[in-house]
Amino acid sequence: MTTTTTTTTTTDEAFEGYLGAHAQERLESYKDFVRIPSISALPEHAADCRRAAEWIAADLERIGVEHVEVSETGGHPIVYGDWLHAAGAPTVLVYCHYDVQPVDPLDLWTSPPFEPVVVGDRILGRGVADDKGQLHLHLRATEALLATHGSLPINLKFAFEGEEESSSVNLEHWLAANRERLAADFAVISDTGFFEGNLPAITVGLRGMMYAQMDVTGTSVDLHSGGYGGVVQNPANAVATIIARLKDADGRILIPEFYDDVVPMTEADHAAFAALPFDEAAYLRRLGLPELFGEEGYTTLERRGARPTLDVNGIWGGFQGEGAKTIIPAHAHAKVSSRLVPDQDPDQIFEAFRAFVLEIAPPGVRVDVRSLGGGYPSVTPIDHPATRAAARALEATFGREPLYVREGGSIPVCATFENKLDLPVVLLGFDPPDQQAHAPNEWMDLRNYETGIRTVARMWDEVAALGRDAFRVGTGV
Ligand SMILES: [Zn+2]
Repeated sequence: MTTTTTTTTTTDEAFEGYLGAHAQERLESYKDFVRIPSISALPEHAADCRRAAEWIAADLERIGVEHVEVSETGGHPIVYGDWLHAAGAPTVLVYCHYDVQPVDPLDLWTSPPFEPVVVGDRILGRGVADDKGQLHLHLRATEALLATHGSLPINLKFAFEGEEESSSVNLEHWLAANRERLAADFAVISDTGFFEGNLPAITVGLRGMMYAQMDVTGTSVDLHSGGYGGVVQNPANAVATIIARLKDADGRILIPEFYDDVVPMTEADHAAFAALPFDEAAYLRRLGLPELFGEEGYTTLERRGARPTLDVNGIWGGFQGEGAKTIIPAHAHAKVSSRLVPDQDPDQIFEAFRAFVLEIAPPGVRVDVRSLGGGYPSVTPIDHPATRAAARALEATFGREPLYVREGGSIPVCATFENKLDLPVVLLGFDPPDQQAHAPNEWMDLRNYETGIRTVARMWDEVAALGRDAFRVGTGV
């Protein structure tokens, strides 16, 4: 397919005029939305999550989106809505989440988390970036297009989740049950951000996850280390013995078969990482560490974005009070997780981890290993027509070609969309890179938010110009 350069644009003067005339109202609406404390992980905020869902549904209805529904999931609801009158044009499914992280430690916030304030170019409050700000900017782009043109250049479907910050426990089932209703040419997930220096970026890769806990048990109660020391296995020593054998001194993971499915990096992959502007000295200074450490043969950004990891997330057992207590602990534990890269399978990695831990476990104790969950890694091809359209929209609005970034983090939703709905995913997000999501004083750059509205609208024009054929499997690019 050829790319058209004479795009009929809906992001015209009328569109800009509407956004200009409604700037104050838009900011007030953004703040209203942030004021709802929709913390999905805390049961006492269940009613707030529902209130946030209903807020979105009312907003969608008001701006002219159809078939709006607060859809039950068994947990916090998912808000669905669509606008499907662009006959013959592509259809895009837009995903964001309306739930937010808990706010503690509260005393580190400079203003109350659910009373958003504007300071200069920033708005502060829980969820202003992750992910209510991004959800809100999609609503405002749709509003401005429908208000000024009476139509959208493409068909849009919205699915706004309320459990992303608490493991999306009901999402997969809901997606499967709504597969037909969610059919689209591709999905846009807006839950990521820009690169260091607030440079426009498209996230093209996310790591997956394997999370496990090991429980090492000796006797039923702690033993006197004088009476029994030297004659029984110590569970805390056993945990340390096991952990010490999981990786070598160069940071390579020693679990057999762990790397078997890792897709090797190509020359182009190395070049893409090398092209990212990255100040390693500043990065190290910010961390306050004597030096960085990671797997031999890879750069820092490659280690973070393209290589799998294994880390102890917590380790405990035995006496931890002040002073001395001479015991052999009855039991000891560790939580261990791996960030995964294509094509590692979280279930297979868990099984390999479990088998290896049991194999290397020292004698004299019982070792149990159980899974605490996992998620698949994902990578979107840079040359997918939807990614290209997003790149052109970013360049047109932010005045700079975006960077393509493989991130160290995980958005399990992304792989779920790919696997359950067979949809290619574009991660088009506008958060500034140091937005303090999940931490006190979360903030959003209002220029990213405002330009983000224009980018989204512009992207729909780009997608309309490509036409449906560009997104048929085996064509396009
Ligand atoms: Zn998020």
